[in-house]
Amino acid sequence: MITTAVYDTRPYDREHLQRASRDSDVEWRFLDFRLTRETAALAQGARAVCVFVNDEVDRACLETLAGHGIALVALRCTGFNNVDLAAAKALGLTVTRVPVYSPHAVAEHAVALLLTLNRKIHRAFSRVRELNFSLNGLVGFDLHGKTAGIVGTGKIGRIVAQILHGFGMKVLAFDPFPDANWANRSGVTYVDAASLAGFSDVVSLHIPLTPETKHLIRQETLDLMKPGAILINVSRGALIDTTALIGALKSGRLGGVALDVYEEEEGIFFEDLSGQVLQDDELARLLTFPNVLITSHQAFLTREALTDIARTTVDNLQALDAGTPFVGGSVLT
Ligand code: NAD
Repeated sequence: MITTAVYDTRPYDREHLQRASRDSDVEWRFLDFRLTRETAALAQGARAVCVFVNDEVDRACLETLAGHGIALVALRCTGFNNVDLAAAKALGLTVTRVPVYSPHAVAEHAVALLLTLNRKIHRAFSRVRELNFSLNGLVGFDLHGKTAGIVGTGKIGRIVAQILHGFGMKVLAFDPFPDANWANRSGVTYVDAASLAGFSDVVSLHIPLTPETKHLIRQETLDLMKPGAILINVSRGALIDTTALIGALKSGRLGGVALDVYEEEEGIFFEDLSGQVLQDDELARLLTFPNVLITSHQAFLTREALTDIARTTVDNLQALDAGTPFVGGSVLT
């Protein structure tokens, strides 16, 4: 049996992981709190832990896991910025992730946010339910004929680019590793980062969080953006300097912002805090702007993506015991 402690388990994780492991020798131990240095010891007796985006897998946490005989940290997500890979390697722990799952899930959510924000559907929905049928303040703009700037043309960015091209937008892109063939086929034009910022009516971020990309959107990059532009971030919160973002919203320079991720989302996103006082003042400020739309890291949340994630996670756990290769692209250490 490959006993696996699943941290931060939600009902949809449990359902999909159980379904994917039906004919396997993986046994789940579902835990409803996050993995941190304080909770790592509770994995005792398991061979592996399964973690998500907001678990804090730092050196102290990994030392405790290794001390309790854990052999594998299986991330049930693509990004791995929350794991100290150097420490894991030094401790002899294998770390795997899910390198690919429905990129359509995330790309379609980015476009859903854009359409909702631009056409003010979130405000219209609340109004109509209050029997307020007025249209005042709900004016948007045609996407057709406008310019979209896609930062990062990996799996997700490409799909967003193609969808927006389908709306009749002119699509610019920036990526340090451009794919000219794909761009030609898809009607996309690669430009440098400053041109993308200056010409785009909509900027959408689709890059990993690394020390180099942290606060890619900050005061000086916001100053380069076209006045009135819409910014979309479904990638990682810390790509944006929240303080600078709030400044650009207060000054009216930005037309709107849609976020599925937030710099300080740990401990807030995925939780029901509806009966409590929100302690994060910057998030509280963001929530006051009529032109800010926030979802709680749900871009991955489709049946297809959850099925892909669960299947790859089970395959990686089984590979641990069987000595067969891990799913291609999964192994981080
Ligand atoms: P990917 O690895 O396929 O593509 C990332 C691209 O970003 C690559 O082409 C890379 O060259 C490019 N890049 C790296 N640094 C850059 C920079 N400074 N400027 C411009 N481009 C840069 O990744 P993907 O599958 O498309 O995912 C992108 C990100 O989306 C992930 O890293 C993850 O953080 C995020 N994500 C979020 C959710 C969610 O639920 N909100 C779900 C999945 C992924």
